[in-house]
Amino acid sequence: MQHRKRIGERLIEAGLITEEQLRIALEEQKKTGELIGAILFSLGFVSQKDLFTLLSMSRGGEQRKEAVEEFDLPKDMEAIVKQSTAALRIAEPEPGKAADVSLAPVVRLIDRVIVTGIKKGATDIHIGPDTGGTRVRYRIDGLLQHGMYLPKDILPAIVSRVKIMGNMNIAENRIPQDGGTIFVWEDKNLDIRISTFPVIAGENIVMRMLDKSQLLLGLENLGFLREDIEILNNSLSMPYGMILVTGPTGSGKTTTLYSALSIINSVYKNIFTVEDPIEYHLPLIRQSQVNVKAGLTFAAGLRSILRQDPDVILVGEMRDLETAELAIRASLTGHLVFSTLHTNNAASSLPRLMDMGIEPFLIASTVDTIVSQRLIRLLCSSCKEPYSPTPELTERIGCERTGDLVFFRAKGCQECSDTGYRGRTVIYEIMKMSESLRKLVLVRSGSDVLADNARKIGMKSMYDNGLKKVISGITSLEEVASSTRTVF
Ligand SMILES: [Zn+2]
Repeated sequence: MQHRKRIGERLIEAGLITEEQLRIALEEQKKTGELIGAILFSLGFVSQKDLFTLLSMSRGGEQRKEAVEEFDLPKDMEAIVKQSTAALRIAEPEPGKAADVSLAPVVRLIDRVIVTGIKKGATDIHIGPDTGGTRVRYRIDGLLQHGMYLPKDILPAIVSRVKIMGNMNIAENRIPQDGGTIFVWEDKNLDIRISTFPVIAGENIVMRMLDKSQLLLGLENLGFLREDIEILNNSLSMPYGMILVTGPTGSGKTTTLYSALSIINSVYKNIFTVEDPIEYHLPLIRQSQVNVKAGLTFAAGLRSILRQDPDVILVGEMRDLETAELAIRASLTGHLVFSTLHTNNAASSLPRLMDMGIEPFLIASTVDTIVSQRLIRLLCSSCKEPYSPTPELTERIGCERTGDLVFFRAKGCQECSDTGYRGRTVIYEIMKMSESLRKLVLVRSGSDVLADNARKIGMKSMYDNGLKKVISGITSLEEVASSTRTVF
């Protein structure tokens, strides 16, 4: 903090920014947790060159180091830009043909960007053009965070290098491309999926990191409570029927499904999956990747799997009627079927299936359990701040007061990059189909009626589950409220 204040003050002293500009940047910092220098820069209040000049002028080498740390820039950044752009010019004799970038400096730079991402636990790395520069950001615990701010001129070299890594066409910069690579670091093999997208002023790159060693399977590890794991175990022991996991993209559905499959995985069961993408390889399980170009869609895959004498089938997603019908038919004919839907809560999954065109009686006789979930951030254990909620607050949020109640709020420290959070867990609701729910499905009831009925027979809502996690001190009320869209 001290150090950041000094940078702001020094910039004011040098006449490079005004008090007002610093105030705006500090406000912004409260929201984003980004570094103050980077914020001033991205707001256009100060140029990177000015920052460098100022910081290297005042106290020489030491200050220079400080600037480098503040921006997390490679120490030989200037040399990298010079060499890469020079090489690009030489290697790019005619327009439209991108350069052959086997350039050591850019290779090192990209490696560094990726390794930083791995160390920070990023799920995605974003690199793209931004006002006057090239911005690198990392998605950590679901939120984008500032990474590096590199000079504008380096972007074409970065794009070419990343395309080479991803086995993509480096001469093509007008259309989006997909690719992938295996990145080896220490003893890890990371699967990286790469996507490029042409935008104004260049191409935007997103690298999705699939780190198999990071995959922590096990329902308990994911944040499921013991009593709920029992409910799920019970569903998993069925010989046939359908288990659905729902939630928006990035809500951890695949990890939950993989954990569930791992529980029943054995040599005595023939388990198949059809997925897009296959995120992790599971032992014993026959996993297949959707390949639309080759004609292997979810529906085609499922149809073939049914001829492979399966016991258990995981269908990555039911996007269309054909796939949903096949999945339903598979579960009717003696298979245990797992799948996902993009619905916001458990109850709305049933009307969603009806909207797709599935007959209510088929839904009522196959669907057994619906898990709906979100990922929420865990409070940073180094800096979380305790407070006792007022009786008005507990009343408003529907929390029973038993004894001394302590909640925690996010604060921010160095270990959590000033966000106040580190790591994630699930909050969820589990809807187990009952006789009364099946009857309501048969008469095409809406999601509100279904949810009411489910709660009456004991379903705890996602919000209830979140509140339990607030009370146990692992997350904040704000985090649960925003992820369940609850307003107090
Ligand atoms: Zn912290």
